[in-house]
Amino acid sequence: MSTLSSLLIASLLPLGALVSTALGGELPNSGVPVAAAASPTASGTPGRVAGTSGQRNALGFEVPPERAPSKPRWIADYFDAVDEARRRHCAIVMMISSDASEGFKTVSNQVYSEPDFSALTDAAIFVAAFDGEDHACKEKKIDGEKVLWCEIFDLPCKHHRAAHKRAYSVFVKKAFQNPLHAILDPDGTEIARVQGHQIKLDDLSLALREAQKKIEGPALGYAEYREHLLALREMVDLRQKKGWGRQIKELHKYTAKSLQNEGMQDFVAELERAMLREGRDRLRNAEVQLDAGDAKAARKEVSAVIRDFRDTEVATEARALKKKIEDARRP
Ligand SMILES: [Zn+2]
Repeated sequence: MSTLSSLLIASLLPLGALVSTALGGELPNSGVPVAAAASPTASGTPGRVAGTSGQRNALGFEVPPERAPSKPRWIADYFDAVDEARRRHCAIVMMISSDASEGFKTVSNQVYSEPDFSALTDAAIFVAAFDGEDHACKEKKIDGEKVLWCEIFDLPCKHHRAAHKRAYSVFVKKAFQNPLHAILDPDGTEIARVQGHQIKLDDLSLALREAQKKIEGPALGYAEYREHLLALREMVDLRQKKGWGRQIKELHKYTAKSLQNEGMQDFVAELERAMLREGRDRLRNAEVQLDAGDAKAARKEVSAVIRDFRDTEVATEARALKKKIEDARRP
């Protein structure tokens, strides 16, 4: 098993624990008693574990692609789904099925192909947890590598198969009807399911409306979310050119003006912390230079940090370090 997939599975465990608790069972294939696992709290779920976004560099965030309005949007990464759902304050739909399922074919023809389904994939995040190798795909070259690209979900087939493997062990605890739509809140806790080949688009829309009521508060639509990410991407990318201090101010202004959503505010706070960390890393380097006897280089770097991080706590820290360097130079 690759490190990545074991991380993913490890990170899915709290989710499994929740599902198990609800069903009074045990975690699939683990033998871990449910009582030993973290339990849900009023605010949502047990904390996320290793491998989640907290460990990624927030500044490296990607803006997801623009969606053609007529085309449903599917993704296949559970963690991307949770990160995005928290920022957008919207539901996640884990669609679990396979290409061997007649039920899937029926729902695909009668629900997913409807123009209004596409709008649903804007309101909530649809994850394709889909198994099988017997469906349309074509070979694409991505970064010089051949990838089998799914014609149903518009993503690499191996991703939706991996998603199926994980989701199946977490959500499928008893007989279910194909396809299964497990509806999750932004923390990944299941709050409803819609399943079987007889479902209509209205059943999914209704369940999502109910889910959004449980989640409380309005969700950010995909297009609007993307616009925010584009704006934030630009502000973050200009930090080298315009200075971290100035760009952090820009982030504050933007948040006050355009981001009422708590999840987006948290995300911006995460970006800001990551930007400040870059300044602290530079100060640490300056200290290394100072310790190595190169006070001149250390002083230069610290002065640059004071300029770059104007009006932030890092500038204050830098001034303290500058004083230390100057004191050290005095006889
Ligand atoms: Zn596929």
